[in-house]
Amino acid sequence: MRRGTNLPWVGDYNQAVVLDGIRRSPGTSRTEIARSSGLTLQTVSNIVRRLLERDLVREGGGRSSLPRAVGKPRAALSVRPGVAVAAGLQFDRDHVVAVLLDLTGDVLGTARADRPGDGASGSLRVGAGLVHDLVAAGVARGDLDASAVRGVGVAVPGPLDFHGPVRSSAINLPGWHGVAVADLLGRFLDLPVLVENDATACAVGELWRSPRGPRSFLHVHVGVGIGGGIVLRDEVLRGESGNAGEIGHVVVDPSGPACTCGSVGCLEACAAPAAVVRGYVRLVGAGAARSAGLRLAEASVLADHDRLEALAAGGDAAAAAVLRRAADDLAGVVLGVVNVVDVGEVVLGGPGLRCGGERVRAVLQDRVRAAMARDLHGVTVRLSGSGEHAGAVGAASAVLHEALTSTWSTARSPLRAAVISPVAPVH
Ligand SMILES: [Zn+2]
Repeated sequence: MRRGTNLPWVGDYNQAVVLDGIRRSPGTSRTEIARSSGLTLQTVSNIVRRLLERDLVREGGGRSSLPRAVGKPRAALSVRPGVAVAAGLQFDRDHVVAVLLDLTGDVLGTARADRPGDGASGSLRVGAGLVHDLVAAGVARGDLDASAVRGVGVAVPGPLDFHGPVRSSAINLPGWHGVAVADLLGRFLDLPVLVENDATACAVGELWRSPRGPRSFLHVHVGVGIGGGIVLRDEVLRGESGNAGEIGHVVVDPSGPACTCGSVGCLEACAAPAAVVRGYVRLVGAGAARSAGLRLAEASVLADHDRLEALAAGGDAAAAAVLRRAADDLAGVVLGVVNVVDVGEVVLGGPGLRCGGERVRAVLQDRVRAAMARDLHGVTVRLSGSGEHAGAVGAASAVLHEALTSTWSTARSPLRAAVISPVAPVH
């Protein structure tokens, strides 16, 4: 887990460390938390007392792994279910997914809408409806108190502009450029809103699911675009503007195609699903591509990309070639990140990998293994276990951290400006 500090002015940060330690290891004890966080037992005990008073944590019902010291009772600590819940939304070009996440880590409900609407306003309205319905269903079932819902986290493709109200600069979502996401969603939902880059949100979601730390990994998200989120020893790397990990705009071919960002030959321009589909059309022609089952419409990019995976598996050499080239380009960039930031894992996720994930994983693992032959440490490449909900879970978990600790580590970034007050009732 992350290390705490015994300086008095960072008490709230320590509270975040302790709460996260309890959540990730249900049944843990004050002694174990003190040992793994570096905090004194007295500091941990004081924080646990506050968490117990706030009903966020309970004692009993678990088992500590440490031997019991003579005469020292040890109480198993765990997060109390149902007292803190957050909603998460993740938007991509052709769909939005929603989750309800309990502080314990349990996902209480999920929902999805395809083709959610035109532009940001229509999509956010649909997303707000999904959240509203999930909360209503939980209340109707009797396993959710609506007042426990602390806010909604929104994951959108980067980059984001964190100066002032967080604005989407997403070039891959038509109608979203320059949109103040939290303000707009606040018109449809009576909840505080936090906005996050989708690839970073996926990394946060992956971290959230980790039973024990510390972990250092690069999370690669392939949707309509390609993004990355970096976690170093359980800390999310945000960078100067909140957009660290934008691997999609690393140049892989200086004489390659123009990118929507204004540069030339970016990974995204060469290897994102739309680029792979374009590459196939260049090789076989649009007529043959349509005959092979591709629709070649902007809205069908991910479906066409899936179709290419099926064609390649069926022996289509052109499909196999363009997919292999894209995986090689991605591997080159991932290798660069692995070398620069020294992570131990690469995690792959997103709808652009829903069919070819294992194939891409194997290419990356081979490249990383060959290049890291100096063997400082092994680097494991694996597929995310969160499926399509990773970004929504990550955005929701960020809300819980913000809501429950007044100085969670991310709060020192501009992300804090994303939290707004409720402005409108739920419709
Ligand atoms: Zn670019």
